Amino acid sequence: MSKSTILHAIRVLKSHIIYSYSQNWNKEQIENHQDKKLINIVKHAARNVPYYRNLFSNIGFDANDFRGRIDMHKVPLLDKQTLRTRQKEFIADNADRFGINWETTSGSTGTPLKLAIDNSTKAHKLGAVLRSYRWAGYIPWKRTFSIQSYKFADPKAIYKHYPMVNMWRFNSRLLSKDASLEILAMINDLKPEMMIGYPFSIYMLSKFAKDERIPIHPIRSIVTAGETLSEKRRILLEEAYQCSVYDFYSHHEDVAIISECKKHSKHLFDDFSYTEIIDEQTGETKTSGSGELVGTGFYNYAMPLIRYRVGDKVVLNDNQEPCPCGCRFRTLEEIIGRQNDYIVTPDGRYIGNVLEHAIDKSKGVILSQCVQDSVDHVYLNLIVDNTFSQDSIGDLEKGIRARLGDELLIDYKIVTELEKKPSGKTPFIMSKIGQEFI
Ligand SMILES: [Zn+2]
Repeated sequence: MSKSTILHAIRVLKSHIIYSYSQNWNKEQIENHQDKKLINIVKHAARNVPYYRNLFSNIGFDANDFRGRIDMHKVPLLDKQTLRTRQKEFIADNADRFGINWETTSGSTGTPLKLAIDNSTKAHKLGAVLRSYRWAGYIPWKRTFSIQSYKFADPKAIYKHYPMVNMWRFNSRLLSKDASLEILAMINDLKPEMMIGYPFSIYMLSKFAKDERIPIHPIRSIVTAGETLSEKRRILLEEAYQCSVYDFYSHHEDVAIISECKKHSKHLFDDFSYTEIIDEQTGETKTSGSGELVGTGFYNYAMPLIRYRVGDKVVLNDNQEPCPCGCRFRTLEEIIGRQNDYIVTPDGRYIGNVLEHAIDKSKGVILSQCVQDSVDHVYLNLIVDNTFSQDSIGDLEKGIRARLGDELLIDYKIVTELEKKPSGKTPFIMSKIGQEFI
């Protein structure tokens, strides 16, 4: 094991121990912690981050006078488009000293986003994630299966085993009927304690099991991540696997984590970042009802993001009485998030949110939408700017084919408006052949 891996493991363990304590903080302790962390990151951004140096100077904001939560409204909101187009300006002059890990994010717009996540943030996130898993009943080193969009060295490998953490990871992109039956056989043979992953992928396994009349060995608990978990899907999973389901929410930019506790309340991790719920139209911060999630991470000194608009909608709990689990972090009634349909490929694979990665490298695409209107045909609705060219189509085709394969016929349509569902929603993936979000 390399020295850096050992150091990382020690950092994760340390942060996890801290998170095991901070979950018991009272309101005052949480707010003091938030103020302290916000003051530190805002001062650091003002000194060392080109974007914030310029912004603060232009609006006459003096970071030395900043007092924390009470002054947050003085910092303008940051949207995805600004971050994508000016990403280099967000890297701190002294980023190297914090240890940079580069991560590329997905999105349904054309500019890929390269994030500099520093060592401390990586460790803090894992420490906090581990707390979530423990809330869901995870016992370290107990056998766990995880089904998400993984990239293994062998692109055809359905799974990879990680003996150090007793985890089996399965690539959700290869989830055909045959692959699902293989995974089901492994569940019944290896009897994992816990499953983590995309709710749709875990649901599809149970559907194939039902179709083929294969009983599933009961799992202790399931943690869903990466996609919106509807109540309907939660019930289907609980029935199929005879266990409790816990929803988990995080994202690459690391400005918010939401996790379900033992009592199934959805807690905002108030010790990991400072989150606000804003009115999407006016940008005003709300203390009740639904709105867009905005977050400020406490730890990423390599690339600080302050009041970043995550793009996902959530609903605050009207009742912010202390949760019976003992944790005083705020709670949400619902994570609305992104609700995509699914594309089913002719070779029987189901592709969901991960298709958004396919659009990343195509220049000039402002908004996009993938619609499946028959078993062998999809089309892309594209809203483009004047930098869009034949090369962009080439890049799009490459990205889409890498995920959907070669058998589907794909058309590209330049449009001025994306298609809406009868509900009024405009999902990135729309199925007209019944593979709808449930
Ligand atoms: Zn709770």
